[in-house]
Amino acid sequence: MAITSPKCSKESKVEARTRSWIARPILSSEFTDDPILEEVYVGLLKQKQNTSTAIQTVSSILPGFHHLKRCSSNKLLLAPLHSSEHTLTSDKLKTMLKEKGFDLSLLEEDFQVLKVPSRAARTKAQAARATKIWPLNFHPDPNIECLIDGSVFADQQLDLIERYMNVAIEAAKLEAIGDEHCNGSAVIVDPEDGRILAIAASRIDQHPMWHAVMLAVDLVAKLQGGGAWKLNKDSRESVQIADEDYATRERRIKRKYIEEAPLYYPSSLSILDLPEEESLKSTVVKQGRRNNISKRTDSGKSEAVNAEKCGPYLCTGYWTFLLREPCPLCAMALLHSRVSRIFYGVPNQCTGVLGSKTVLHAVPGLNHRYQVWSGVLEQDCRRVLQEIQNRNTD
Ligand SMILES: [Zn+2]
Repeated sequence: MAITSPKCSKESKVEARTRSWIARPILSSEFTDDPILEEVYVGLLKQKQNTSTAIQTVSSILPGFHHLKRCSSNKLLLAPLHSSEHTLTSDKLKTMLKEKGFDLSLLEEDFQVLKVPSRAARTKAQAARATKIWPLNFHPDPNIECLIDGSVFADQQLDLIERYMNVAIEAAKLEAIGDEHCNGSAVIVDPEDGRILAIAASRIDQHPMWHAVMLAVDLVAKLQGGGAWKLNKDSRESVQIADEDYATRERRIKRKYIEEAPLYYPSSLSILDLPEEESLKSTVVKQGRRNNISKRTDSGKSEAVNAEKCGPYLCTGYWTFLLREPCPLCAMALLHSRVSRIFYGVPNQCTGVLGSKTVLHAVPGLNHRYQVWSGVLEQDCRRVLQEIQNRNTD
């Protein structure tokens, strides 16, 4: 997953109250896999006092293995057996070392073949596993460790995350009608000021594409003067004005946010109690739409023209709270609309693509990556999911 330099908040952890849940980051396999091993030739040093000379010479002749200690006890890493072009024989290796000035008499006659980690560990946990195989050169990345141990979020942020997830839970409880592929609710929030923009529950009984996320994204589109579906008869639909300039459009959207957000589907969800608005970003790097709006409003025309061409997309910078891990349709809708963070309660073993079946946001070649956490209020979410599944099959 994309790492966007979160700041650690270890201090706040000390005062953290006990929670029933832990936000588990959904990371790409490069952060979680066991070390991949490759076969290498190893020379056995006859005399310990020759170690540093041997390391120096072999490193200049055959650079590489930067993620590993070049020497472990009397074993000196020489070269991988296999490369993309060829397989190296030990005779060829000996000839090459000799030609380039390595003193072969420092080593025992026969080289060994061992398996060592082929690439650098990304996390402390991976390093701990890899170092059992061969000693490493490893420096943990505090940003990644922060994500893994949960200290990326301050305690106050976790409280807020819990509050927004509670809205999702209540919304699902009231209205969700989905199936085993996708079910539950979605809440889209502007983390800058904590304003909820859209709240939706799955209604596949009314339309096959009315998954909670699809509805919520369409509600945000409505706030911006668009939207594909006629969701609420009573909602004040606004019309896109063709010749409206960028700044006017931004002002109109901002006004609509203040006057109309959140939008709900089904509209009966408007009876929900909403948490007080509070910025979710107290300790994270600022990114997002509001920021971009003010930046664009203050700066010159060229920046505005550029932004008009490149975005922001519907949900740039927004955070999304889901009862359940999304299906591919919903996960792609969130990707296209450029949300920055997704929190969900329960994994979706059937069709979930943010951790269960695959890790969509780690697939190479995507032009946007969000960050994802699962397990938020997991027990409560699971209970409600059971409730709504029972209700759906009644
Ligand atoms: Zn879905």
